[in-house]
Amino acid sequence: MKTKKFTLLIAVFAIVFATFTACQTDQTDELLQEEGKVSPEILAKLDAAYFDTSRAFITNFMGEEGVAVEDMFFTYEQIDELQSIDPAAKHYRTTNLVSGLPRVITISVDPDLGTLGSNALDATINMYNNLNLRISFTRVNFGQRGPNKADIEVTEFYELESGGFITLGRAAGFPTRKGDPAKGFGINSRWFEISSIAPNVSELAGTMAHEIGHCIGLRHTDYQTRQSCGQNINEGSAGVGAIYIPGTPTGSDSTSIMQSCGPAINFNNNDKTALEVLY
Ligand SMILES: [Zn+2]
Repeated sequence: MKTKKFTLLIAVFAIVFATFTACQTDQTDELLQEEGKVSPEILAKLDAAYFDTSRAFITNFMGEEGVAVEDMFFTYEQIDELQSIDPAAKHYRTTNLVSGLPRVITISVDPDLGTLGSNALDATINMYNNLNLRISFTRVNFGQRGPNKADIEVTEFYELESGGFITLGRAAGFPTRKGDPAKGFGINSRWFEISSIAPNVSELAGTMAHEIGHCIGLRHTDYQTRQSCGQNINEGSAGVGAIYIPGTPTGSDSTSIMQSCGPAINFNNNDKTALEVLY
């Protein structure tokens, strides 16, 4: 059996390119069919908000049913909120941001992600806290409920590659209307099993930093084109819920940690500018 290597082994977040043998593709196609198909109405709403819906599917994530699209998960209610966002928009951030600044955001990681997950979260927290923003992160125990529950929980999920892509992380939406961060994100432990792309601490930390970026309101820097994933989607008309952050490039930014597909694992200067403007 001939197995080709993943073509973008960099891919430290979101989605990775890969090529597969036919048998692997068949298996994953079956898997996708078991997951629900997304209705045309919902696809239209996600399209209008500039998401690449070509691999969107209905799934359960962090205890709720909704739709996985790119490296995001939205409940149906969250999808309706996307639709209600100001359409006068251009690049980068969502309408809702984390409010109540300065603010300490608590974050926890599922022990199922092991020492690697634990060390990577510590590294990610350092990446953010070193920026001296008006939001900072502090680690708490996983699985607490009530007032001790972490603002952002990092959970584990397991999902096979499909159609040449593997989703490395998945964020549970963007900040809420109340000004809280999204409640968390998942890391795909299938990623750890594929020796050609299995992450080290820095690479996993880069993915976590990317997913935290979504939780606090950053969109993909290449959301209009998905260029980093080898796609070239037409810009179309007005973007929804993606507001330009002053001082950052309006075009492609190949070293941004917020590209749809790898390889960045550290904040570049534009990422830092974006975070400093927002927070
Ligand atoms: Zn992403």
